[in-house]
Amino acid sequence: MLDARRLEILTESAKYDVSCSSSGSKRVNAKGGLGNASVGGICHSFTPDGRCISLLKILMSNDCLYDCEYCPNRRSADVPRASITPDEICELTINFYKRNYIEGLFLSSAVFSSPDRTMEALCETVVKLRKIYNFNGYIHLKGIPYADDALIMRAAKYVDRMSFNIELPSEKSLKLLAPQKTRDSLILPMKKLSAAREYDKQNKIRSGKVIPAGQTTQMIIGASPESDGQILRLTEALYRKMGLKRVYYSSYIPVVESPKLPTVGAGLLREHRLYQADWLIRFYGFDVDELCGEGDNLDADCDPKCAWAMRNMQLFPVEVNTAPLEMLLRVPGIGARGAYRIINARKYTALDFDNLAKMRIIIKRAKHFITCKGKFYGSESRGAIKAALMLDNRAENAEQLSMFSSPDVAVSAITGEI
Ligand code: SF4
Repeated sequence: MLDARRLEILTESAKYDVSCSSSGSKRVNAKGGLGNASVGGICHSFTPDGRCISLLKILMSNDCLYDCEYCPNRRSADVPRASITPDEICELTINFYKRNYIEGLFLSSAVFSSPDRTMEALCETVVKLRKIYNFNGYIHLKGIPYADDALIMRAAKYVDRMSFNIELPSEKSLKLLAPQKTRDSLILPMKKLSAAREYDKQNKIRSGKVIPAGQTTQMIIGASPESDGQILRLTEALYRKMGLKRVYYSSYIPVVESPKLPTVGAGLLREHRLYQADWLIRFYGFDVDELCGEGDNLDADCDPKCAWAMRNMQLFPVEVNTAPLEMLLRVPGIGARGAYRIINARKYTALDFDNLAKMRIIIKRAKHFITCKGKFYGSESRGAIKAALMLDNRAENAEQLSMFSSPDVAVSAITGEI
């Protein structure tokens, strides 16, 4: 029987993994109320069709053989340990599902006994959930480095998504902070999964596809000295060569003491800038080298697209009615959807600033970089533009999204468009 204490330890231990897009909730039901959020372990994720769903986020065990410096579950840490069996996870998942707490499972584990034994137990869990409990909900499974390929591939047939966490952006940092792992132990299984997905695609396999929702990974930011450029070059390679769905960045938080680790956290701003740059690489055609400035890092003062535009003022202003799509995508204040709307609308009429405002273009930002029918309303002074953009960025960074946020902020927060 699974007791509340074990459940608490195993859901709490899973909370630092952000590769499934997570958020916690501690709401308890009040008398006469309706519904009850579980104390720990419920996170949110997005399915391939874009729905936001709740997942039970849990470790099978937090009793690890390995000793990664940054991890609260590492072998040398003095923390309460707990484990759960495949059957207990299945019952818990089905129970929570029937109570409408969750729509899926995010299952991970510390490495107990051996990598193979751990992967075998994870595999057994997902196979049972699908075949014995007939569970058709979403499953995201963490892969175990060094586990046998056959076990990984078997599990991949039963789950929607798999992820191997790269954790640190270079082999050197892995050696220092996670000495039992190597880059190959993480990258090679990812390559094999990617090849298996490609095989399914080429052969038009529809049922029994491996990981139909693809792979993700996570990197810890600021625990090791790599620059933003190094982190983003690795990210770019993962998207390009392995077709990863997402790379998640987790800002380092000093939850464990170690002389090998910084004593202060990396801060959320750096994480935020990396997500913005990641978006620009995937959807706006930017290269890492274009986005990084001094010291191979992103500018902290304004978003990477504004920072790039400020470094390349000789390319602006561009005429909205004639500029190619690639250039419109590079204008601060014109998001990807805005750029496509402009391309479509200008086939029928020449656009002015009023037309752009109706298309939700952020005029106060874009006006410094564009002309409409030859008219320019931006500032001529580089210093004034930089000050206006920084002010705008500060307001955007400071504003918590709410029901009443302006449409510009809300759209940017939801879609990531900048
Ligand atoms: S393998 Fe490393 S990161 Fe994973 S649980 Fe064990 S100590 Fe933590």
